[in-house]
Amino acid sequence: MEKKKIGNLSQREQFVKELTDRVKDDLKKYFLDRDYGVVVLTKEDALRALIVRTTNLCEIARLRHKLSPMATAVLGRALTGAILLTSLLKHGTQQRVLLRIEGDGPIGLVVAEANAKGEVRGFVQNPNVPTFVKEENGRRKFDIGKAVGRGVLTVVKDLGFGTPYESSVPLVSGEIAQDIAYYLLKSEQIPSAVSIGVLVGETGKVEAAGGFIAQPLPGASEKAVEKLEENVKKMPPISSLIKEGKRPEEISELLFEGFTVELLALKELSFKCKCSKEIARGGLLAMPAEELKELIKEGGASIKCNFCGEEYFFTKEELEEILNEKEKGEN
Ligand SMILES: [Zn+2]
Repeated sequence: MEKKKIGNLSQREQFVKELTDRVKDDLKKYFLDRDYGVVVLTKEDALRALIVRTTNLCEIARLRHKLSPMATAVLGRALTGAILLTSLLKHGTQQRVLLRIEGDGPIGLVVAEANAKGEVRGFVQNPNVPTFVKEENGRRKFDIGKAVGRGVLTVVKDLGFGTPYESSVPLVSGEIAQDIAYYLLKSEQIPSAVSIGVLVGETGKVEAAGGFIAQPLPGASEKAVEKLEENVKKMPPISSLIKEGKRPEEISELLFEGFTVELLALKELSFKCKCSKEIARGGLLAMPAEELKELIKEGGASIKCNFCGEEYFFTKEELEEILNEKEKGEN
């Protein structure tokens, strides 16, 4: 009896192993072209990181908002940055984080919002901002800081209860990744390494985008933190790694070279807005009656969602119905 059980067990083990390998293969295929992130921990020491690939969602943002190459580079960084900030949220909940960058540069206001489910949306005030370049180590790069300018970075965390928590820091570089690291240190007391890269091709298309955030957890040794800093310094730019086809879990091996990496969670990422015609209708309903009457006179209205560029059309008849509802409600 005992013997047979052991025999069955090994058969079962073999089956489970095959199944695990097949699931791994399926996951690899599923995430071949999709955006996703991995949360990793080091086995030996308390270091944690979130590494993300955001190429598709940055490209979708570019197309939706008809962004210039410079605006694509800035919004792509902000969207990726907001996703990295979701590491402050509870995985898989309705919690969300909003990143707002108000600088005096030509791009104007930059806003990105991400939730714990991996959905992100955002916009820039000036989608046509021209290209600024600078040279760094002999390479021509977008001068993100010049487009953004000097100003303030604000993070609003909505944890799903009470008033959202809001905190601001002055922009230290306008390069976004450094500014997020500064925010985490000053406002959250979390020393972090943050890196974000968006590679925009000749035609303006996003060729590769992604980022990582790495932090020591309480109890991490000084030696481990030093090793992490050393690894971060010698890593090639993250956008180049992604362009080469490196996956987030492979990038985690470079980030935590010298440690044993454990994958803790996997999250699919997408550009997604929660707007709808119903929400746009609510906006019209809140308008002064005089303005609604103007729109009716014009024969219809188109309401554009700032966050995703989606347009909602309302016919004259629909507007009249909204006006009726408004007047009924006010009596
Ligand atoms: Zn929208």
